[in-house]
Amino acid sequence: MGERLVVIGGTAAGLSAASKAKRLKPDMDITVYERSGYVSYGACGLPYYVGGMIEEADDLVSLDVNTLTNKRGIPTFIHHEVTKIDRQAKTVAVRDLDTGKEFEQGYDKLVIATGATPIVPEIPGARAEGVHCLRTVEDGIALKSRVAQGASKAVIIGGGFIGLETAEELTQAGMKVTVVEAMPRLLPFLTEEYAAAIQNELEKHGVEVCLNATAAEILCQDQRAAGVKTSDGRCFEADMVLFSIGVRPASQLAAACGLELGLKDAIVVDEHQRTSDDSIYACGDCVQMKHLVTGEACYVPLGTTANKQGRIAGENIGGGNGTFKGVLGSQVTKIFDLYAASTGLTEQQAVRAGYDAVSSSITKGDRASYYPGGGQNQLTLILDRKSGKLLGAQGIGTETIAGRMNVLATAITAGMTVMEVNELDLVYSPSVAPVYDPILIAASQALKHVK
Ligand code: FAD
Repeated sequence: MGERLVVIGGTAAGLSAASKAKRLKPDMDITVYERSGYVSYGACGLPYYVGGMIEEADDLVSLDVNTLTNKRGIPTFIHHEVTKIDRQAKTVAVRDLDTGKEFEQGYDKLVIATGATPIVPEIPGARAEGVHCLRTVEDGIALKSRVAQGASKAVIIGGGFIGLETAEELTQAGMKVTVVEAMPRLLPFLTEEYAAAIQNELEKHGVEVCLNATAAEILCQDQRAAGVKTSDGRCFEADMVLFSIGVRPASQLAAACGLELGLKDAIVVDEHQRTSDDSIYACGDCVQMKHLVTGEACYVPLGTTANKQGRIAGENIGGGNGTFKGVLGSQVTKIFDLYAASTGLTEQQAVRAGYDAVSSSITKGDRASYYPGGGQNQLTLILDRKSGKLLGAQGIGTETIAGRMNVLATAITAGMTVMEVNELDLVYSPSVAPVYDPILIAASQALKHVK
């Protein structure tokens, strides 16, 4: 028998780890256990499946169990939950959820890629029928079937990107949608002005936005969700409620076997994705990561990170020496016709981290003014007044904002100042960018703030 690798969790992080390890050590005996009925799926596409743009749940899946097991040589088991890790015996306990059968499986190396669990507050009615989360394909199927059964009013609790993408999709599917958000604004990774523009975009398309309020109670009729009562005493009718108020790391197995936990109980790993036990690696939404600007621990659960960390874990299990340096939390979302993106620190985060931070904003066309079809980009750069170092950026506008945010993420990673960003040799052609790209305009404006 070859060296044995067991992977817990069969999506972004887990399968990246398994696939990389298999490529580097083809003789390795790798087994993947996945609790849900799907592996290798793009959770990020779930809102578009729920709304109908993506017709079949299987369209979200890149590799099925058969391909993984028989073509890739990675035996993969769905509906199999790992219930315990015994670090001394180097075994995991597995329950076959279809048959109820339990068995033990030995490992030489173990990967914990259990992801994260949606947070559901303990309020009356929170577990009633018609109350949903959106995390797995099964969650997506349940939501979509509710739409197909004729649900016409939805309340979405939480104004983060998953809630808002789903609000867009349900509206386009013909539903009346209300978003309830505890904070005084949506999408906290954006400036207040950009968050207000996103709110305006939602309201323009008929979405009701209720800020400064939490869900106090899910109102039920015949034990089914019929509405939401908010903390400020308002009631919103609903035949479908979605909680999207964030996730917590699924680290219970790691905690129970004594692995070190950190921020929000996420698993602590080193830059090789190794946990406090040399034989156990962890990756994805269940782990704590390092912020590339502050160097501090942070928890930013994103698919980009999960895939990369999984690959690094697999590389190291396969005998390599890969490292994962950290994250900027770069993200982008589309809400109806407006795109919003961010990377690095917000101004408030930068001040909290001890920088003499200032933000500087510009609005600029995303291509030559005479060229048809363009739109605006609004960009805000966050910089350190003393050194001019770029610390973060946020933007809204056309889809071109995504590429520009990627350039700024690159600049932050390289430790560039706004003076250096101002000197970048960026592309120009009337159809794709103005002579002075919005990034250059933003940098030249920002450097006026440098002491
Ligand atoms: P998960 O995808 O959560 O996978 C963990 C798996 O482990 C699960 O399938 C779970 O069933 C399984 N598991 C857990 N415990 C056990 C156990 N004990 N035994 C067996 N199996 C177990 N990120 C982006 O970067 N961009 C986006 O646009 C974006 N959009 C998103 C939209 C939605 C609706 C959602 C839900 C997420 C989105 N994300 C996005 C986040 C991204 O999907 C996650 O960061 C990513 O899926 C994390 O991958 P993971 O492998 O760490 O965890």
